Amino acid sequence: SYKYFINALEIAKGIMDNTVFPGDTVIDCTVGNGNDTLYLARLVGLKGKVYGFDIQKKALTLTREKLMSEGLYDRVQLIHDGHENLFEYVDEEIKLGIFNLGYLPGGDHTIVTRSDTTILGIENCLKILSKNGIILIICYTGHVGGLEEKNELEKYFSIVNQKECNVLKFQFINQINNPPVLYGIEKL
Ligand code: SAM
Repeated sequence: SYKYFINALEIAKGIMDNTVFPGDTVIDCTVGNGNDTLYLARLVGLKGKVYGFDIQKKALTLTREKLMSEGLYDRVQLIHDGHENLFEYVDEEIKLGIFNLGYLPGGDHTIVTRSDTTILGIENCLKILSKNGIILIICYTGHVGGLEEKNELEKYFSIVNQKECNVLKFQFINQINNPPVLYGIEKL
C-alpha cells in the first residue's frame, strides 16, 4: 500500500526504491546512524556499491557494525571525511546521492552540517550523477543553524538551470513543530 506521505524520510525511501537498482553505485553523504546506508546497501545488491561519508568516526564505527551484522558490509565503503571532499574518493558515475542534514541523533548536537559544505557536497554529487539520477536532501530547521542552512540551500536551488535539473521541494504544510523538508534534484 502507498505510505510515502507519512514523513520526509518515507517519501525519500519511496524515491530510492524507484531509482536505485541492483548493480548501481550510490552515495550516502551523511552516514550518521547508518539507516540510509543500510537501506541503500540492500537496494544496490551484491554487485552494487555504496559510498558513505561522515566526519564523525563514531557514526562510521556504529554503521560498520550494523552492516556487518546484516551481511551487507561487502558492498559499502565508509569514508571518514566530509562530502565536500568526495572527489578524493569517488571517481565513477552515481545513480543517487542522499543528504540527511543536521546533527547525529543520540550524538553531539553541536556537530551539524553547514550550508557551505553541504552545497559543495551537492555540487560534487551533481557532477558525477547519471542522467535521470537523483539527489535527495532531508533538511531540518529545529536546531541552531538549521533554518539558516535551509535558507542558503533554497537560494542555491532556485538558481539551478532548469534545463539541467528538476529541483523539487516536498513540505508538509499542515504539521506543527518544524517537520523536515525534503528536496529532490533530478539530473536531466
Ligand atoms: N542518515 C543518518 C541516519 O540514518 O542515521 C542521519 C544523518 S545525521 C542527521 C547527520 C550526519 O552528518 C552526522 O552524523 C554528522 O556527523 C554528519 N556530517 C556533518 N557534516 C558533514 C560533512 N561535511 N560531511 C559528511 N558528513 C557530515
